[in-house]
Amino acid sequence: MATNRTFTMIKPDAVENGHIGAILAKINTAGFKIVAMKLTQLSKRDAEIFYGEHSERPFFGELVEFMTRGPIVSAILEKENAVEDFRTLIGATNPAEAAEGTIRKMYATSIGENAVHGSDSDANAAKEGAFHFSGRETF
Ligand code: GDP
Repeated sequence: MATNRTFTMIKPDAVENGHIGAILAKINTAGFKIVAMKLTQLSKRDAEIFYGEHSERPFFGELVEFMTRGPIVSAILEKENAVEDFRTLIGATNPAEAAEGTIRKMYATSIGENAVHGSDSDANAAKEGAFHFSGRETF
């Protein structure tokens, strides 16, 4: 079933590099409404749970290390066709392959440190949003 919400994180690299404002501006300009948002930091356990489906991948340790090294901005976004449209806005996982004008093309530095997360399905969007936000933090 299609929903109109997705979940995002501005990852530690983009926060460290001062790109929170620019990335949020692109998100708003693209027509997404922010319905939940916070600056937070993942614990090792949080990151291992959040990225659990990648636990067998060779880069898993590196991914957990990266995602826990500093604060992130997490948010739930609303728009028609949110999941697919947001994946288009952020671009390919590897910034070298991301289309011009996408957030990862503009702000990511490598396939690992790729500036933003975007849910890949409606089911994951709901699961990931609920992992980060309670009902009373979501509008
Ligand atoms: P996404 O859906 O575009 O975020 O990509 P994936 O679900 O395939 O991977 C999740 C995250 O793991 C990516 O956003 C990257 O931060 C990280 N990642 C993926 N591939 C690699 C890799 O080859 N090396 C490293 N270090 N990290 C990776």
